[in-house]
Amino acid sequence: MSKCISCSAPLPPNAIVCEYCGTRNDTDLAGIHTYTTHELESARTCPRCNLAMKTIDLKLNGKFYIERCQQCMGLFFDPGELEVLLKASVKNVFHINRKKLDRINATMAKKSPSVNYVKCPECHKIMNRMNFGSRSGVIVDRCTEHGVWLDGGELRHLFEWMKAGGEILDQEAREKQIRKKEKEQMATTKKDAPLHTGGLHIYDNEFAPGDTDLFQVVQGVVRWFMK
Ligand SMILES: [Zn+2]
Ligand SMILES: [Zn+2]
Ligand SMILES: [Zn+2]
Repeated sequence: MSKCISCSAPLPPNAIVCEYCGTRNDTDLAGIHTYTTHELESARTCPRCNLAMKTIDLKLNGKFYIERCQQCMGLFFDPGELEVLLKASVKNVFHINRKKLDRINATMAKKSPSVNYVKCPECHKIMNRMNFGSRSGVIVDRCTEHGVWLDGGELRHLFEWMKAGGEILDQEAREKQIRKKEKEQMATTKKDAPLHTGGLHIYDNEFAPGDTDLFQVVQGVVRWFMK
């Protein structure tokens, strides 16, 4: 459990503001060692507080700009940036710690965020709510065109999820899905295969025209004999 930067009181999971001294704790970006250097005012506004956000350079592979609301500590990432940041910040994870993942998932579920749709800071269209990764418990708000919104504290949570092997679990789930699809496709192919090919894998639609021709030839010969 992390502690308040000001009074060292324990900070409950996903809490931003210390309940003892009221200090706003920067729990999300504290996990990034290449921490921000300069902060610019952004044209984008926070979808929760409606205040102008600050642009922060995370200095990851050159320039890496994200936006942050100083009030609620929410973060906005351009498409793909969040994944890059997670991969760059949490490395060398080879095992899935299922117990830890369950705990992480349960912690987030307890927070039970009010289902509250927010607008994209760029185009102001209502964003989609979607699960981020298997059993992370984090539901992100996403504009397909402009990026992903994370509420304050959620990035720290995703770092923990990555450390517990959440991404590996996610990869496994994706591979399972692919294998399932392949199996389904194989089953459909078998069903479509003609019965008279004696085990040869020839598809119906490839064989049929020849069949018809042969049938017509035989019919023609029979007609010729009947004359
Ligand atoms: Zn405090
Ligand atoms: Zn805000
Ligand atoms: Zn948008």
